[in-house]
Amino acid sequence: MTKAERQHQARLRDMGCAICARIGHPGTPAQIHHVRKHGGRRDAQEMNVIPLCDIHHRELHANRRNYAALYGIGEQELADSL
Ligand SMILES: [Zn+2]
Ligand SMILES: [Zn+2]
Repeated sequence: MTKAERQHQARLRDMGCAICARIGHPGTPAQIHHVRKHGGRRDAQEMNVIPLCDIHHRELHANRRNYAALYGIGEQELADSL
């Protein structure tokens, strides 16, 4: 990972879970989720991440197909908004 990627991920982790923040509970300790796109470049993927708490991280992996319906925002859209 490059320094820029590490800094980006550290900044997002410090923000806390992105979904918790959307539902009015900002600052939940978060882990980094990678938004993986088929055919995406490996080096671009370290920047394409979302901070999520344990619960929302698991929920995302369990509901990847209808994620936008669950939270009113798609995975990529969410990553782009951070
Ligand atoms: Zn959360
Ligand atoms: Zn993940």
